[in-house]
Amino acid sequence: MSLRFTAFVVVLSLAILSSPVAEARDRPIEPVQIDKGKMRAYNIGLTSVFTLLSAVAQGQVQSPRDAVRHLLIGSAAGYGFYQAKRIAGDGRTTEGWLLANATSSIVENTSSGEHPIGRFGYTVGPFRLRVATPFARRAIAHVELDWSVAETGYLYRALDEGDHVQSRDGLIAMDRDSLWRDPDREGSFFEGRAWGVFPGVAPGARETTWPHEVVHVIQSQQLDSVEPPVYTFGRDRDPSGPRRLFALRHIRLGVTHAMNNFTYERPYQERWGEVEATGLAEKTPVPH
Ligand SMILES: [Zn+2]
Repeated sequence: MSLRFTAFVVVLSLAILSSPVAEARDRPIEPVQIDKGKMRAYNIGLTSVFTLLSAVAQGQVQSPRDAVRHLLIGSAAGYGFYQAKRIAGDGRTTEGWLLANATSSIVENTSSGEHPIGRFGYTVGPFRLRVATPFARRAIAHVELDWSVAETGYLYRALDEGDHVQSRDGLIAMDRDSLWRDPDREGSFFEGRAWGVFPGVAPGARETTWPHEVVHVIQSQQLDSVEPPVYTFGRDRDPSGPRRLFALRHIRLGVTHAMNNFTYERPYQERWGEVEATGLAEKTPVPH
């Protein structure tokens, strides 16, 4: 593989995707408008690049053509994640979460050399269940289980800071009996929180709070989808033999989550996750 060519493609895609998106407007621009075009472009551009990096880490890029393919699939996935968050932000949280799982599956499949729809993955807390479809090429079992170290850490924190474990909209919710204290501001409180894929709300939370937290959950799922495994149990599939029923397959650390930590160095109003979740759920900029 030509590394220079790959780098060129990455830079080019970023340049194209970060340029302003032209949109026809049939009404005057509001004084405070959420720049949804920009959010969408960031989702497409970054997911594209990170899908390629994940594919490189998993040995799936041997030619410039492979690189372009992963960038294109990553772009489509970025659009899918953005749509999933938009739908969840509008209150259709179950639908948004399912779309996020389907989109993650395509990224995980292609970046690991699997058929794009060879497996359908569904996240259950720190685990990801992946069910083989008739298109599966590399699956060694009908159901494979992956484990995320980062999401296990979030589970621990969610259990520590939440009061009730509930199942809601296909997610494991960690609700609480009282508001959460805002660590950044004295006398300020949160009526909802999300730790990785574990969202939670407090009693009396506004109607938009749960969708806001589910947008955060999808952001976390998006980061998990481009994380290459750090360890794989078992070998590649022996095509002559039948598939097992179940196999523990991959361990993922959460390097992408660590890379995202820089955002928490920024003031709350400027964190990309808050700008996006507030924009999509409350349809406003992050309140000061
Ligand atoms: Zn938030």
